Amino acid sequence: MTLAPTFAQDDTEQQAQEPIAERAILIENVNIFDGKKDAIKANHHVLVINQQIKKISDKSINYQGQLIRINGKGYTLMPGLIESHGHLAIVDNLSNLKHHFDWVEIGVRQAAMAKSWLLDGFTTVRDVGGPTMGLKRSIDAGVVPGPRIYPSGAIISQTSGHGDIRERTDRHPYLESESDEHMQRLGYYYIADGVPQVLAATRNNLRNGATQIKIMAGGGNGSEFDPIDSLQFRPQEMKAIVDAAKDWDTYVAAHVFYPKQINRFIDAGGMSLEHAPAINEATMKKVVNKGVFIAMQMNGLSKELRDSPFNPPYAKAGIIEIQKDSKDFIKLVKQYKPKMVFATDALGDVETQTKQRRFELYERARIFGNFETLKSATSVAGELMLLTNRRNPYKLGKLGVIEQGAYADLLLVAGNPLADISLLGANKQWIDAESPQPIDTIKVIIKDGRIIKNILRYEDENN
Ligand SMILES: [Zn+2]
Repeated sequence: MTLAPTFAQDDTEQQAQEPIAERAILIENVNIFDGKKDAIKANHHVLVINQQIKKISDKSINYQGQLIRINGKGYTLMPGLIESHGHLAIVDNLSNLKHHFDWVEIGVRQAAMAKSWLLDGFTTVRDVGGPTMGLKRSIDAGVVPGPRIYPSGAIISQTSGHGDIRERTDRHPYLESESDEHMQRLGYYYIADGVPQVLAATRNNLRNGATQIKIMAGGGNGSEFDPIDSLQFRPQEMKAIVDAAKDWDTYVAAHVFYPKQINRFIDAGGMSLEHAPAINEATMKKVVNKGVFIAMQMNGLSKELRDSPFNPPYAKAGIIEIQKDSKDFIKLVKQYKPKMVFATDALGDVETQTKQRRFELYERARIFGNFETLKSATSVAGELMLLTNRRNPYKLGKLGVIEQGAYADLLLVAGNPLADISLLGANKQWIDAESPQPIDTIKVIIKDGRIIKNILRYEDENN
């Protein structure tokens, strides 16, 4: 529908009457990694119309009309990357968030964070905790650059659960009247106990635009007062949350470490395991049978995590304990091949999150190989996003694949990332890494059919 402006004068009215022109990009002479197969299709051409991939061919494509033409020079075209366990609202350590940043500063830093993910080639982020709905809306409206976001809204936690990050001196939000805790007021987490409260928390997130729900179903290292092995939420509370999410045609993701936590969550109908490092064989079989996704971080099993100065002092003992209990994780994944998505759980400022995601790419590729890592960050993650069904904000096409009709979220990489993952910024260093620089081997980034980055132009000028 085209609306003529009421202030029409000169040629403004004329333009408004004409049909809206298509936006077209023709990317010629590329090798394609489609996100699904461990193979490269050589010498192809791809036509993007508006937001979607319109045509893929090994013959040159003729398009009548205005277009942007990109000579791909035999570089590799691949789907934009997807992060499945991000925290774009956790823009610094918890102490700074709690005591020093007001909402304006948090908003500004969120925008910078979103841009840094996009410029590293991540065109989609599933955010699993924190107020990112406003960020998502601002990005979708074109106000600031950033990835597509699937926000979870406030983490839902029981009292004394892994999301209950109050200090000992902070009041309880409803047992001791209105909470004074800054992050709770900003919508980072809800503390809810009993069926009516967990239902209200779930529904309030959905009302605010959450595309899926995130709960804390077991202990963690970033909260001080809950043991990591503790079971959090009773089965009936968990079932109530899952059912309320299902009523909105979407699903629940849960922070879990141990088999007892995982089993309780899956029995309640949960579909996405956040972490799950101490999974055992029986539980892994159940995960595979039910088609449940696992969003685990390889950085979580690393020595680097143990040594990270970013950890609050109370975290270290728990990290050592969970790493000791997680020695079968890699073996079980290799044996049972569950649906694993790329997931960094990066926390902190832009530099910290950038280093962590580049390390995660390196570490996963070292353990599972380049193809498995890239598949987990493209087509498998795209499948996870589809669990949002009618709450999916991006319904026009698939994410994480190069095929006709898929969203035109694309990277053009100088070289073959299936052979060399460092082309995507994978970096062996994490804590000790140098300050991150732009990834020059990612030559072009397209999101939603729009060119976000194109440094091929400068190369051409210099030649
Ligand atoms: Zn997390």
